[in-house]
Amino acid sequence: MSIVDTRTPDPKRLIPGATGDWEIIIGLEVHAQVISKSKLFSGAPTNFGAEPNANVSLVDAAMPGMLPVINEECVKQAIRTGLGLKAEINLKSVFDRKNYFYPDLPQGYQISQFKQPIVGEGKVVVSVGPDRQGNFEDIEIGIERLHLEQDAGKSMHDQHPTMSYVDLNRSGVALMEIVSKPDMRSADEAKAYVTKLRSIMRYLGTCDGNMDEGSLRADVNVSVRKPGGDFGTRCEMKNINSIRFIGQAIDYEARRQIAILEDGGTIAQETRLFDPAKGETRSMRSKEEAHDYRYFPDPDLLPLEFDQAYVDALAVDLPELPDEIKKRLVAELGLSAYDASIIVSDKAIADFFWQVAAGRDGKAAANWVINDLLGALNRTGKTIEETPVSAAQLGAVIDLIKDGTISGKIAKDLFEIVWNEGGDPKELVESRGLKQVTDTGAIEKAVDEVIAANPDKVEQARAKPTLAGWFVGQVMKATGGKANPQAVNALVKAKLGVE
Ligand code: ADP
Ligand code: MG
Repeated sequence: MSIVDTRTPDPKRLIPGATGDWEIIIGLEVHAQVISKSKLFSGAPTNFGAEPNANVSLVDAAMPGMLPVINEECVKQAIRTGLGLKAEINLKSVFDRKNYFYPDLPQGYQISQFKQPIVGEGKVVVSVGPDRQGNFEDIEIGIERLHLEQDAGKSMHDQHPTMSYVDLNRSGVALMEIVSKPDMRSADEAKAYVTKLRSIMRYLGTCDGNMDEGSLRADVNVSVRKPGGDFGTRCEMKNINSIRFIGQAIDYEARRQIAILEDGGTIAQETRLFDPAKGETRSMRSKEEAHDYRYFPDPDLLPLEFDQAYVDALAVDLPELPDEIKKRLVAELGLSAYDASIIVSDKAIADFFWQVAAGRDGKAAANWVINDLLGALNRTGKTIEETPVSAAQLGAVIDLIKDGTISGKIAKDLFEIVWNEGGDPKELVESRGLKQVTDTGAIEKAVDEVIAANPDKVEQARAKPTLAGWFVGQVMKATGGKANPQAVNALVKAKLGVE
């Protein structure tokens, strides 16, 4: 692959060294497990967490004479993903054998795509941030290719004192390998890129993105250079299965390479392993030990061919993707770009938002979802899936403010109660006596009391009308926040005789 440098060095992203600034160059190979009921070339199921070797057909176990049969759904998923990445879809692609020996690979080769992948060049827009000023920056990351391949099984070394076992449940499961161009320039950019890829695939329903189940993992290529200079020699860290670890591996690796180069050394091209416990990378194998995979087209499989109409039909059915939804949230609901980014960042959050926003003011729904719900989830370390306040409950709280039943302040308390104890917000307002007092008689009484108790403040407020706000605050306090603030304001001003 010929590497094209697409970006000018950005001072914000440079790392200072003893000999001047350094620029980090990052390219990722992401392995994404395709959502499909059965494997890429067999009818065996793909569900996670099955008993070892429960999901293994004779094809996956590579019994003699077994032949692969392509699973059309996996092909469609790869095309959908390619479309989501705004990539070129290749109407003809070829499956190759990548030959190597490993105990978890009974065929003795992996069926993959080498010279002619199903998807070619594309691009992903990634929002990086927020920075210290709270700003996001949009950058474009090039996609080199996406190809389909089989996953391998898993050796299990901890089941028996003297023997290793193998679990072939994953053997033959369809993966999409998505190769980026070396377009990323910091750990934050790489993390944002993987997050965005995952989000796009979740919207598309082509990969569940569950990194702790191994559905998404990344090989991370890192090199460093003096800004604007030639690309340096890269090291590749294999199979990292958390976004946080991807960031840690990049930062550690860049510093390691800079230290070697500043010491007058050279970087050896090698495959390294990231150890999350130690937070460091170490050598696995050098370029010299690299495999020669003896790729050749798999004689058991015809080239994969379809026509443009096939692709177009899939394109028509594609769901709306986060970038498009974000534009719509800004244009149609008047949300800020920042709020819209947060809502589309996670499909589960977006789905929740739409439920809350249905038939209500979009901005109010966004404020409650972002500030109150996501804020509380963050504080308690919960995900949106674990929220104690449902979309229906949050919607009901917003309705109660809208129809004047409760004030905005009481709504915050009501949200707390629903969060901690559950229940129907409307009933809670009744049973806990949270209803806003709009009865002017009651409010008037409270205003009179505060005025009578504070003659000195009354003098001051008459001289300086802005001090009327103090009385409003006192009345709200006296009524437990339940008085209608507009009514209190009007009455205070009238009684003080200020405008
Ligand atoms: P291979 O298949 O041997 O790993 P590729 O040429 O397909 O090699 O590149 C793999 C990944 O490495 C790509 O994501 C690419 O962007 C990235 N890459 C290539 N050169 C560099 C470099 N100098 N620094 C960082 N990443 C790089
Ligand atoms: Mg590689």
